[in-house]
Amino acid sequence: MTETIENLRDFNYYKLNTNKHVLVEYIWIDGTGERLRSKTKVYDTAIKSLEDVEWWTFDGSSTDQAITKFSEIFLKPVCMVRDPFRGDPHKFVLCETYKPDRKTPARFNFRWIAEKIMQEANECDPWFGVEQEYFMLKRTGTTHLWPLGWPIGGFPYPQGRYYCSIGERNNFGRALSEAHQRACLQAGLKLSGINSEVAPSQWEFQIGIAHGIEAGDHLWLARYILERLGEEFGIDINYDPKPIQGDWNGTGAHCNFSTNKTREVGGYEYIKEFILPLLEKNHQKMMLLYGLNNEARLTGKHETGEYNQFSWGDGSRGCSIRVPIITKELGKGYLEDRRPSANMDPYLVCSALVDATCMNGKN
Ligand code: ADP
Ligand code: MN
Ligand code: MN
Ligand code: MN
Ligand code: MN
Repeated sequence: MTETIENLRDFNYYKLNTNKHVLVEYIWIDGTGERLRSKTKVYDTAIKSLEDVEWWTFDGSSTDQAITKFSEIFLKPVCMVRDPFRGDPHKFVLCETYKPDRKTPARFNFRWIAEKIMQEANECDPWFGVEQEYFMLKRTGTTHLWPLGWPIGGFPYPQGRYYCSIGERNNFGRALSEAHQRACLQAGLKLSGINSEVAPSQWEFQIGIAHGIEAGDHLWLARYILERLGEEFGIDINYDPKPIQGDWNGTGAHCNFSTNKTREVGGYEYIKEFILPLLEKNHQKMMLLYGLNNEARLTGKHETGEYNQFSWGDGSRGCSIRVPIITKELGKGYLEDRRPSANMDPYLVCSALVDATCMNGKN
């Protein structure tokens, strides 16, 4: 069995030509709201832009998005990039999901509302930079998953040596992270960096600066590529906010945020006098949209603020919001919302930030 799989790996089927057919991978968020699904449609026409890609359907009863009797869910193509696995001219197409009337969003289609909010907020020109953290897990035995490189059933050296680390005993999983960076850039995603994180086998990649709805689109596509590479590497990608109990950092997705006013002269004062009070006022409401099980992570320890208590600080990593020192120094710039957990939906987080600040909590 193993031998067959290895033989298949050596046979690079991605190099076979497709006889001028273009393979379009339709990608969507499923009924967990945290995971992605995809399937391929073969086109015999050139695919140059989104307009060349048609709506499609899938069996929503198999993704927890519909019941068997009314099982069809429609896929609306919304963001297209290059497929880094199959290579050009093949495409990845992120899709929104709709009920058969093609107007009612299906379960967990939060892009639908995010796009409306981003349109409303257009005049404040929101920019985002999302720091997506994740754990790499490896199978030990048949079912049990444990962080890559950790002694089976045991623990590695305590934290302190792993963040931005090098070296065999400090850095686990660089090859996958590196492959992911390349694949995202080839796809055309706005990935701006990677680093190993505080916990061993925990990593981060950054998406941004991205404008409006693009932040969510690119983050979901980067997550998709990461899981696809995980298949190749035999590594499970884990976004649980607190996968390992004890003195091991949880996994977050800091969201850096700015608007035209925070980026202008006087932006720092504007953040302090206008943005931060609004974020404080909306704290509890926003936390509901910032990822499931986030209260296990936001303990006030391990470089977090507290789940039930809004806080901010210049340059502080123990707060809900960090205002970078550079923003204070320049008198303008951006802020870092440290509250979202790794399993959050960026459409919700970005919308919540824009709604609480630019729209003054209107929605
Ligand atoms: P940290 O020091 O918290 O680890 P990172 O370097 O990982 O920060 O991430 C910072 C993110 O902030 C990057 O994704 C970057 O693109 C983003 N960013 C920088 N300037 C702005 C801005 N004006 N508005 C929004 N995001 C920004
Ligand atoms: Mn079928
Ligand atoms: Mn970071
Ligand atoms: Mn980080
Ligand atoms: Mn950060």
